[in-house]
Amino acid sequence: MKEWEKNIRKVTPYIPGEQPKMDYVVKLNTNECPYPPSPMVEQAIKDLDYKRFRLYPDPDATELVRAIADYEKVPEERVFVGVGSDDVLGMAFLTFFHGEKPVLMADITYSFYDVWANLFQIPFETIPLNAQLEIVPEEFCRENGGVVFPNPNAPTAIEMPLSQVEKIIRKNQDVVVIVDEAYIDFGGTSALRLTEKYDNLLVVRTFSKSRAMAGMRIGYAIGSETLISALKAVKFSYNSYTMNQAAMAAGIAAIRDEKYFNQTIEKIISTRERAKKVLSDFGFFVTDSKTNFLFATHKTMEAKDIFEQLRDRHIFVRFFDKPRINQYLRITIGTDEEMEILYQALREILK
Ligand SMILES: *Cc1c(COP(=O)(O)O)cnc(C)c1O
Repeated sequence: MKEWEKNIRKVTPYIPGEQPKMDYVVKLNTNECPYPPSPMVEQAIKDLDYKRFRLYPDPDATELVRAIADYEKVPEERVFVGVGSDDVLGMAFLTFFHGEKPVLMADITYSFYDVWANLFQIPFETIPLNAQLEIVPEEFCRENGGVVFPNPNAPTAIEMPLSQVEKIIRKNQDVVVIVDEAYIDFGGTSALRLTEKYDNLLVVRTFSKSRAMAGMRIGYAIGSETLISALKAVKFSYNSYTMNQAAMAAGIAAIRDEKYFNQTIEKIISTRERAKKVLSDFGFFVTDSKTNFLFATHKTMEAKDIFEQLRDRHIFVRFFDKPRINQYLRITIGTDEEMEILYQALREILK
């Protein structure tokens, strides 16, 4: 090994779901929205003046922050935006998890959390979900240096009732608690209003799932002014111009179109509820999803086998080769037409 090689930071990166290069029939592997964003987004992109691209974007993303603040009914000082919620969460780890005690996270959860903890050299402890794959709030009440969990959890799709979320926050008022609400719009109850009561609570949201804009990279956090100022200070110590002009314009248009947003959500929820029944009839056990995906295990057939046979048919779902969940598939809710193609393939595979 060369001398300089010894100084290279060694990390094990997060592995995102596959973006297939081949032609695919149905892509249900990365929880994207099957519908396009609001038509107002299309208009906003058409209205962009490319000549302005020579200028740096607004480092404070003022107008996008204002649009989000209006929508969420919070003061602008309590909103932080970033390049997808991954950016927001990464910044939050760097800002708030800076002590010696371990940060608590579930053993089965969004697999980026331990990657950031390792990258930023944050000590952490993983807390097992119970046999029903639920987060056990009591287990998050031990001494710690911070708490992070998604609600609903991913990839289990299970929502924790707000009373239990509050219990975790109430018992952890000496540390920052991050609630990642990437999927909250699909029928969950948000902890957002609790940010008025607890100044150590940060709620993180994204435009990637419910607003059909994964490709635009917009996420945000809501918390007390103290938390948001601290986040901004770290962000401006690293990269000021993260939000580009096109993303900001698209984000503003998307969040203002509440009618389209509600219609999209309704369609996805109705497809999801039907999908739960169909998969159960096929012999799957399906968790009670409050997200835009299902987490399902078949009673007799190996998950990996189903995954591979679907893939052979160019139907993409997600399989995690990890202890405890390696008999499960995570299946994003597509359009009704896409789901019919999936059901037909499953009928053949399970025969
Ligand atoms: C998808 C997802 C994110 C990241 O979404 P972005 O595209 O970066 O906004 C964060 N947390 C969870 C639990 C997710 O599923």
